[in-house]
Amino acid sequence: MEAKLTELKARLQEVNDLDMAGAVLGWDQATYMPPGGAEARGRQMATLGRLSHEKFTSDEVGQLLEDLKGYEAGRPYDANDAGLIRVTRREYERRVKVPAAWVGRFAEHSAASYQAWTVARPANDFAAVRPNLEKTLDLSRELANYFPGYQHIADPLIDFSDYGMKAESVRALFAELRAALRPIMQAITAHPPADDSCLMQVYPEAAQLAFGAEIIKAYGYDFNRGRQDKTHHPFMTKFSLGDVRITTRVKEHDLAEALFSTLHEAGHAMYEQGIDRAYEGTPLANGTSAGVHESQSRLWENVVGRSRALWQHFYPKLQAAFPQQLSGVPLETFYRAINKVQKSLIRTDADEVTYNLHVMLRLDFELDMLDGKLAVRDLPEAWHERYDSDLGVTAPNDSDGVLQDVHWFAGTIGGAFQGYTLGNILGAQFYAAALKARPEIPDEVAQGQFGTLHGWLTEKVYQPGSKYTAAEVVERATGGPLAIGPYISYLRNKYGELYEL
Ligand code: ZN
Repeated sequence: MEAKLTELKARLQEVNDLDMAGAVLGWDQATYMPPGGAEARGRQMATLGRLSHEKFTSDEVGQLLEDLKGYEAGRPYDANDAGLIRVTRREYERRVKVPAAWVGRFAEHSAASYQAWTVARPANDFAAVRPNLEKTLDLSRELANYFPGYQHIADPLIDFSDYGMKAESVRALFAELRAALRPIMQAITAHPPADDSCLMQVYPEAAQLAFGAEIIKAYGYDFNRGRQDKTHHPFMTKFSLGDVRITTRVKEHDLAEALFSTLHEAGHAMYEQGIDRAYEGTPLANGTSAGVHESQSRLWENVVGRSRALWQHFYPKLQAAFPQQLSGVPLETFYRAINKVQKSLIRTDADEVTYNLHVMLRLDFELDMLDGKLAVRDLPEAWHERYDSDLGVTAPNDSDGVLQDVHWFAGTIGGAFQGYTLGNILGAQFYAAALKARPEIPDEVAQGQFGTLHGWLTEKVYQPGSKYTAAEVVERATGGPLAIGPYISYLRNKYGELYEL
């Protein structure tokens, strides 16, 4: 049995090597590759994706998993070996249903689609990517249909990123959240929006990047096992547990853009850097779900990164970095500026209260497109209508409408967005549990120290990687299932104080 386990691990390591090589190509494509490299790059990534898929879904891996059933059953549930076999089997049973040809076609299509999007968004040219998106929808439906027996066609796609969730459970949760958010939003938006003009001065790029790096170093992001580069749409990627990279984009007229995207991506990266090194090269060496991943980016970006406590320590340093721009701006003005709540057009720039509305309408669009209730050609119009009715704003174009997010141009339609709101909910829930266990955390944050919080999260959330499901991680870390209560309390306390609600 030990020999079979060793063989399984060796095969998984090869699969992982192919996947990580593909990730390097993807990172390069989104950072430094010249446009002329696009076509070959798409093919290269597709080849690697197909090889990885074939190796992982081979009869040999299937046989090893079969042979190891007894071994797994004889080990405790939380033993690493049992976890490895369990998680590999779940992944195997899922991926073996998807033909390698689909994987190759989808990888090639995604690379072309992404490249087209990088041109179409600045050109406000939805028509140019409409055929790409139509093909993405076809391929997404095809993928879902390899998993018959679903209630909603989006269910398998949601399950891939947030294991255990379905269209119906996400819809029910979102309805509950929408009802709880409504009075908070109404109360806040009854006040005039905060003045954030202090953020909209000229802030030179190099100094912005240096300041963001200073905060994430203090957070515990390890630059010896990571680096930061510039891109169109910020993301985190990983080539091994020893190389977890982040990207950002800088606007010299908007201090918040690079700063908070840096804190966000660092949250994702610290999760990956915190995974038990013993899992390297196996399916356990990944964050467990999109929602739990996003909980970490949102926790470090918002709950900590937009807290008064953090800026008590860092604001004087920010003023020293940008004396011309900020020496005359009091901390309170800055704090209110970075927590401005306003119904707006762009999801990634949205404040933490209205953010979820952006996610909810995208989920509905995904479900409707997959269902056949909404055609791709009608999407731009539907987008504008829904922004008007839900957020009271209308984009002047499609660049800031349906073209704003990369997701549908680099992945499937279905399963792409629910994780963001799950992350907001879970980020607050994990933070509340951390405070309960370690009440000294806010005082430490106010001194620019994050070791206790980072340590608690590492132990409870990061180290296990994918050994536990999202539901298990939440239960183990917080003592209960996913619940919106802590998130709503967090918003009420924070914005209640800011707006005297
Ligand atoms: Zn994120």
